[in-house]
Amino acid sequence: MPLLPRRFDRIKSVLNRRMSNLTVLAEEVEKPHNLSAILRTCDAIGILQAHAVFKQSKIPTFNSTAQGSQKWVKLVKHPNIEVAIKSLKGEGFKIYGTNLNEQAKDYRLFDYKGPTAFVLGAEKWGLSQLATSLVDESIFIPMRGMVQSLNVSVASATLLFEALRQREKVGISPNSGEGLNTDLYNKTLFEWSYP
Ligand code: SAM
Repeated sequence: MPLLPRRFDRIKSVLNRRMSNLTVLAEEVEKPHNLSAILRTCDAIGILQAHAVFKQSKIPTFNSTAQGSQKWVKLVKHPNIEVAIKSLKGEGFKIYGTNLNEQAKDYRLFDYKGPTAFVLGAEKWGLSQLATSLVDESIFIPMRGMVQSLNVSVASATLLFEALRQREKVGISPNSGEGLNTDLYNKTLFEWSYP
């Protein structure tokens, strides 16, 4: 079916707001509804691609919580957490690990306007020791209730919206495609237009 002009305009207006310098890395987040909710938030924020490491036996699946967002946010799978973090660091990302340990600092203390990756931990265990040792900073979202932790997708949304808030406040959230380089913009435009 030919691409209707209205559809193309919609694709372009969403792509114009995509950012390649803000992302999440999910470490063994396994439940389909959590992974789906994280990708849906990434789409809402304007994240181009998210990253993940899965246990070898687990093939990621999405459910209706995603609302199709997996089509618009590419999930890059890495063989292990070390490779994932090193590769993001190599691309210039500052890596913030989410952690409930004593070394973690209040997430509101940091500046997320530069290239930023939030590392999220598994539903049961949180972040691995290896991941914790590799991140640049450990951060937490302060809790005031009886339950010790948030759902992982809620934690990701809290952090990502803070990053977006900081960027919008100083006028650096993209509106006209400046969040991606030209090659990446054109490649993604083609992929989205002719899936
Ligand atoms: N028992 C686990 C622990 O001690 O880390 C709880 C894991 S929690 C349900 C799953 C993930 O959600 C965490 O690894 C983290 O990525 C995120 N998360 C949950 N609550 C958080 C908080 N208050 N601050 C930052 N991240 C949080």
